[in-house]
Amino acid sequence: MEILAFGVTADEQPLMEAAFGRQHPLRCLDVFLSEDTAPIAAGYEIVSTSVNADLNENVLRALAAGGTRMIAQRSTGFNNIDLKVATELGLTVSRVSYYSPYSVAEFAWTLAMAVNRRIVRASNRTRDFDFRLNGLMGRDMHGRTVGVVGTGKIGAAFTRIAHGFGMKLLGWDIEENPDCLALGMQYVTKDELLAACDLVSLHVPLLPATHHLLDAAALRRMKDEAILVNSSRGGLIDTEALVDELRAGRFTGVGLDVYEAEAGVFFMDRSLQAVEDDTLARLVTFPQVLVTSHQAYFTHDAVGQIIETTVANVEDYLAGRRSENTLIPAPTG
Ligand code: NAD
Repeated sequence: MEILAFGVTADEQPLMEAAFGRQHPLRCLDVFLSEDTAPIAAGYEIVSTSVNADLNENVLRALAAGGTRMIAQRSTGFNNIDLKVATELGLTVSRVSYYSPYSVAEFAWTLAMAVNRRIVRASNRTRDFDFRLNGLMGRDMHGRTVGVVGTGKIGAAFTRIAHGFGMKLLGWDIEENPDCLALGMQYVTKDELLAACDLVSLHVPLLPATHHLLDAAALRRMKDEAILVNSSRGGLIDTEALVDELRAGRFTGVGLDVYEAEAGVFFMDRSLQAVEDDTLARLVTFPQVLVTSHQAYFTHDAVGQIIETTVANVEDYLAGRRSENTLIPAPTG
């Protein structure tokens, strides 16, 4: 049975074809699943979608009407899928509940060090044969204090790297992680963490309780010279408030792999269109800000694991099995 995969990048396609091709023919499309593209899925029982697919009610109804019975989402998050409607339509929906936390943790450190040591500015200068050092001074991480907001799988991997730098480790979470405690992490309140840290990195999920976790008041608690990194979800930060703080000259560096209004912009080439988002346009103009396009997970290892798990999820569906990756049908009993 041929499977249709939406939102496949050129880097992913050979890996997907190799993994699926062993058992299942695969048709890869680089377009994302949306109301416009859903008709392409007509006649495909199994459709695989990426993190930026829009699986709203209209799209799900169009898929079901075309004969789709299973959706294999290639990400951990599933906030883009209307699970209520999918349940009503009797669809099977799976996701990838685990893949390399090192991909994201290492990328968060890449952002932190790139803004700290002014790597983008340095690279731009040397391309112009300008080899001066003014404006490139950074700070040692050794001996400084890092605040890890969310010490789950990714936060713990980030903490191990911070430990390697010789940093003082502060954490904030609803649950203490024994692995982080063993590295000497001290859990404190969010306010204490923000006030004490030279580097703050966000690793909590986006939930109603964590939406705008860093609002204007929280951002004002941070040190003027702090570095802030967000590789989790854009909605954790009130971006307008962040722009206000940056405009006031605060923060040594800000590295953002996610942005609260990234949908419809990230993962796409918008270079030839008018910029509609004034906040994003302002954000990228600050010299100490580095924005990347939700690429923290994008390593051979993590993408390979995502694809292998997606193949396993398809096989579970074909065999009538469920796993921890099956979102729908929900486990009974
Ligand atoms: P995880 O579930 O292992 O860890 C999340 C941690 O957050 C847990 O320790 C949990 O106790 C804590 N937490 C949950 N709710 C909280 C709350 N209300 N207040 C304080 N702490 C709370 O998840 P993970 O695998 O470490 O992933 C963390 C996040 O990273 C994901 O939710 C996702 O948003 C993001 N992520 C980003 C990318 C990317 O490419 N940029 C890729 C994967 C994941």
